[in-house]
Amino acid sequence: MTDKQVTSGNFILDIVIPCYNEEAMVPGLLRAIGEFKSRTDYTVRVLFVDDGSTDAAPSLLKEACRTDPSLAYVGLSRNFGHQSALSTGLRLTSGAAVAVIDADLQDPLPVLAELVRKWREGFDVVYGVRRKRKESPLHRAAYALHYRLLRLAAEVDLPLDAGDFCVMSRRVVDVLNSLPERSRYVRGLRAWAGFRQTGVPYERDQRTKGKSKYSIPKLLGLAASGYISFSVAPLRLAVWVGLLQILFGVCYGIYALVERLVFRTAPSGWTSLAVLFLLFGGIQVALLGIIGEYIGQIVREVKRRPEAVLSEVLGWPSSEANRQGTAPGELRRIPSSECRQEVSLHDR
Ligand code: UDP
Ligand code: MG
Repeated sequence: MTDKQVTSGNFILDIVIPCYNEEAMVPGLLRAIGEFKSRTDYTVRVLFVDDGSTDAAPSLLKEACRTDPSLAYVGLSRNFGHQSALSTGLRLTSGAAVAVIDADLQDPLPVLAELVRKWREGFDVVYGVRRKRKESPLHRAAYALHYRLLRLAAEVDLPLDAGDFCVMSRRVVDVLNSLPERSRYVRGLRAWAGFRQTGVPYERDQRTKGKSKYSIPKLLGLAASGYISFSVAPLRLAVWVGLLQILFGVCYGIYALVERLVFRTAPSGWTSLAVLFLLFGGIQVALLGIIGEYIGQIVREVKRRPEAVLSEVLGWPSSEANRQGTAPGELRRIPSSECRQEVSLHDR
């Protein structure tokens, strides 16, 4: 990709949109994409990654893909989760720039145009920074706390209040695609990838239709994946708690010995024993829990399962699949040399 191509608008922007039961959003989403495309001087392609929806969204999206060759659809064989759907989508892109947005338009497309403008200035990653969230106070507080704690604990420089909404250069997407890990906290991996990164503040709209697809367990899972993938602070905490416990035990032991041998008073009885038993039992279980989280992660990584399995491919990624000679149903990794070759929009 030469600078001249970028300034003349002679490049492809691929937009990856993970969708899970978003039938209510589809008409508005398609309209917004149409408006966005009419205002750009570059080629825009959209890849809908359906994450095992059970509503009418897949048929609506496939219908749209049949009439517009710049739209493409891949369906996952079940609900693998947002980060897996997103990672699968990124592997199937080949544009010089790749954008990530949610299907619910909470990340407004006019802001995306601004992110692309910044990318054209030479940044490799331009992410949206949520300045105001028009969500419930509890939701906002939980997110704010999570981002700040994770930033404190993480070994990479994670920007505050930045979600997955971004535009990335081809080389950053190639880096992400080449990472073998399966538990993917994409916004963290993106920060880890490095190159020139910058944030653009924006106001995150409320979801207009449908409900949030991130249930509390899914949100907690996302947060946990951030800590476990990017921080060993919980393990270090375990070590410090363990050391404190030993120190406390030694002090108490000395106290008990002095009491027994010097003052010859009677043993203090059940209360202290019971308190210590409960206290230490609790601490040990908590530490085992933390270690268990990491072991769980190791097991997942060692298995090296693909993060998702494709059940069908419709639209422009299928031409890539055909060239690779791999049938849909098997997740295939596109080598970065392949990714750089532009795929014809009409090559089906
Ligand atoms: N999503 C997904 N799989 C899931 C959950 C969510 O593909 O298991 C998609 C969803 O359709 C949306 C994006 O991820 O496009 C963000 O989800 P949502 O808007 O529900 O999350 P929130 O904005 O409430 O955090
Ligand atoms: Mg949303």
